[in-house]
Amino acid sequence: MTVETSKSLMQAAQVAAPNKGFQIGPVERKSPTGNEVLIKVQACGICHSDMFPHTGHFPGLIYPITPGHEIVGLVEEVGPDVKRLKKGDRIGVGWHGWHCQVCDNCRSGDFIACEKLLTPGISMQGGYAEYATFSELVCAMVPEKLTSSEAAPLMCAGVTTFNALRHAGAQPGDVVAILGVGGLGHLGVQFANKMGFHTIAIARGQDKIKMSLELGAHQYIDSESQDVAAELKKLGGAKVVLATVTSTKAMSPTVDGLCLGGKLLVVGAGTEPFDVTPLQLLGARKSISGWPSGSAKDSEECMQFCALTGIRPMLDRFPFKDVEKAYECMISGKTRFRAVIEY
Ligand SMILES: [Zn+2]
Ligand SMILES: [Zn+2]
Repeated sequence: MTVETSKSLMQAAQVAAPNKGFQIGPVERKSPTGNEVLIKVQACGICHSDMFPHTGHFPGLIYPITPGHEIVGLVEEVGPDVKRLKKGDRIGVGWHGWHCQVCDNCRSGDFIACEKLLTPGISMQGGYAEYATFSELVCAMVPEKLTSSEAAPLMCAGVTTFNALRHAGAQPGDVVAILGVGGLGHLGVQFANKMGFHTIAIARGQDKIKMSLELGAHQYIDSESQDVAAELKKLGGAKVVLATVTSTKAMSPTVDGLCLGGKLLVVGAGTEPFDVTPLQLLGARKSISGWPSGSAKDSEECMQFCALTGIRPMLDRFPFKDVEKAYECMISGKTRFRAVIEY
């Protein structure tokens, strides 16, 4: 192997086809062209959506694919047209991996809704690798106060819950319930508290009470032993229920716990239909809506908010060589909050 060849190769964990598992080994490293930067990856979070390359059930999947869309690292090399970033900058890339700049949504500045959006680990190569290459347009600057491993989960789990909550229409003091206290939910509880909402954590069983209160929940509802809707009604009803779980069976009953004009806001990527009737919605002008994540600028604002307020993700850390183990821990539910691979 010549020096030149070894320089253009890197270690990556790839999925060759659905249900084939990971293959860890050398793959070609993409040199930055145009406005792209080459990133030396320092940390990559493991998201529940990283299962899509394994199941094959997501539009736009390419193979072989390196999963991972919670990427943080240092700019190692810049393309000839890069204007903002320089070598050594610490940046993050999340679900927003590329936007076309010309569709109507891009022209409105809503890049995460780009009609041709590309996502790392789905439709472009992701962060389970030593290096990654992205346009500088999708890179978020990481504040000094956050470590790279702390910043990584903020690129998807963090920005999704932060962005959904800050656009949900709730005012300080309003009752905001976070359904599920896992990877997304444990950040959602912290955001809701720091945004000034009357924060309710909802989860199954008694295990998560102490943790939820420590994270900033003012009250905890155990969905196994308590009637969630009735408990929310006692508080006057929730202005927002942020559903971070993927089970619509858990989401549907919360609709009856919403206040007048309340909203069930869904960020958990479930595939089952809701069990909700129009009658449950129309009298009190309730709604069910979704939120997709955020652009690079949203991720940057999310990280700045965390740096400012002390919000941090809770991590299970794994070295890169244990990427398969880290993924297994996430998918089997052994990781209670967020798994991160480090390089
Ligand atoms: Zn994700
Ligand atoms: Zn577009």
